[in-house]
Amino acid sequence: MQKSPISKIALDGRDFYVKRDDLIDPFLAGNKYRKLYILLKTPKEKYNKIISYGGTQSNAMLAIAAMCKEKEWEFTYYTKPLSTLQKEQNEGNFFHAISLGMRHVEIEEAYYKEYIASLRIHLDEKTYIIDQGGADASAKEGLEVLAREIREANLNLKALATPSGTGTTALFLALALPEYKIYTTPCVGDSVYLKEQMNALYAIPKNLIILEPAKKYHFAKLYPEFLEIYKKILSSGVEFDLLYAPNLWKVLLEQTSEEILYIHSGGVSGNASMLKRYKKKVESQKTVKTK
Ligand SMILES: *Cc1c(COP(=O)(O)O)cnc(C)c1O
Repeated sequence: MQKSPISKIALDGRDFYVKRDDLIDPFLAGNKYRKLYILLKTPKEKYNKIISYGGTQSNAMLAIAAMCKEKEWEFTYYTKPLSTLQKEQNEGNFFHAISLGMRHVEIEEAYYKEYIASLRIHLDEKTYIIDQGGADASAKEGLEVLAREIREANLNLKALATPSGTGTTALFLALALPEYKIYTTPCVGDSVYLKEQMNALYAIPKNLIILEPAKKYHFAKLYPEFLEIYKKILSSGVEFDLLYAPNLWKVLLEQTSEEILYIHSGGVSGNASMLKRYKKKVESQKTVKTK
């Protein structure tokens, strides 16, 4: 497994370094690659089936589908019912995951929670369950590999940054690199919720710094300032995802001043469907204005 390269970009008169984990693979990239690292290193024969559940545009779902294809493991993914529109899309994470052989099962909203809880009861030893978001202590080893790559790069800086959903990536990175400051920001829920999630895995170390966004953003909603920052960074040379990265870039530009190595968390495969949503929103606003 090869090391990801490091790029340098200029933004608002500052230099940033970017650890290009997005380049590892078109589908199995970013922090999902790091989190699945230990399973990727597991011999094929150990399992024949992986089970997971959650959202249908999830980057984790796509990464697991790519892993299972490579390993020749069956992959079953449970979600709440999907709209016909979502099922018929010919781009985006769900479409690609199905193309990679994922078996999709819809569970009625009313039974969903109970059904997911029951999946564990009937497991045989050849089946492995990956919880939603991959908030699991097994992520530790893959993030230690990332930490080693960062140390070996010998960059003359003291701060790293990566966005948080469950906070698993930022937490294990901070634990593996105590000599660095690790900046993160909550992209799903607020800082209180993020700290709870992290503390459930491990006591939060002092070098992990949670920056508070100036405004409350709801996950996966559309914000003009997110699209703007996405485009600005794209024009400086690197494409980032539209769900997590805009949030973190915003707080980094507003609240920090030192040189930073940004750990690209992947997720670019979801941009086609997000950009379509932005386009639709802009068009509907135009028609309202001209009426
Ligand atoms: C999953 C994901 C995250 C969040 O990672 P956590 O370890 O859950 O905090 C951040 N960025 C992208 C692009 C992701 O897909």
